Amino acid sequence: MLNVDLHCHSTASDGLLPPAEVVRRAASNGVDMLSLTDHDDLGGLPAARSVADELGMRFVNGVEISIEWGGLQVHIIGYAFAADDPALNDGLASIRSGRISRARRMATELETIGIGGCFDGAMRFAENPNLISRAHFARYLVESGVCKDVRSVFESYIVPGRPGYVDHRWATLEESVGWILGAGGVAAVAHPGRYKLSRPEMRLMLDDFKRCGGQAIEIVSGSHSAENVTVFSRLAREYGFLASCGSDFHGPGESYIDLGKLAPLPPDLTPVWEAFRP
Ligand code: AMP
Ligand code: MN
Ligand code: MN
Ligand code: MN
Repeated sequence: MLNVDLHCHSTASDGLLPPAEVVRRAASNGVDMLSLTDHDDLGGLPAARSVADELGMRFVNGVEISIEWGGLQVHIIGYAFAADDPALNDGLASIRSGRISRARRMATELETIGIGGCFDGAMRFAENPNLISRAHFARYLVESGVCKDVRSVFESYIVPGRPGYVDHRWATLEESVGWILGAGGVAAVAHPGRYKLSRPEMRLMLDDFKRCGGQAIEIVSGSHSAENVTVFSRLAREYGFLASCGSDFHGPGESYIDLGKLAPLPPDLTPVWEAFRP
């Protein structure tokens, strides 16, 4: 059976390994088809593709776009698009420019509760400063002894209702799907089980996504429980969505599962890679 992993991160966003290392690790874990899906940035794709070509592994262009839907941060993944598409690149650049100003506001918030130096501290962890992310803040809060690990940072800080969280206007659902389709790609909802949405709200989001031209949802994911897999498989059947799978690997020791270590997709669902152009 094909080992497919269509969701992971490199130092081009908030992953810990450079793109080439991510691809090598995937290959040694037995992955046959990989997509690198950095947040809001396509900078890691050329290096990843060139190593994948050397190793004879199938590589699919990917990106995980930060959007806002119903007041929540949601992630929409694009696959198999033309990476030089101008509208996609301009759209991603606009999201990145908002990240720096959000990071300054987060640092100011943390300062008011006595945690100083967060902007510079987080920036030190960001290889790509334009992609400064809450993951980099989390690493700094661990390093400075405020929290014992990254997971506990996301329990006590920088999440809605906790210190250091600031509202941010990301792209819209319609924009993100439009950019992906405009570049010839396929759009997928990332880890739908992670969003704090009621069942009716989830349906509204999936209705909107489908109306915009979205075709796929992640079913098997490093951040999904077995129950999530059952629930979203049922929704995929009902909506006619293609099924995707990905580890959401960020780095050794910082992820739920390693590259290529996913459970198989339910056999009756159509895998998203059937929609990728050869
Ligand atoms: P941002 O895009 O800057 O809002 O940061 C979101 C990133 O923070 C995600 O892509 C994850 O890498 C990380 N993250 C969010 N929530 C958690 C969590 N509960 N545990 C670990 N990492 C998280
Ligand atoms: Mn991340
Ligand atoms: Mn995500
Ligand atoms: Mn991700």
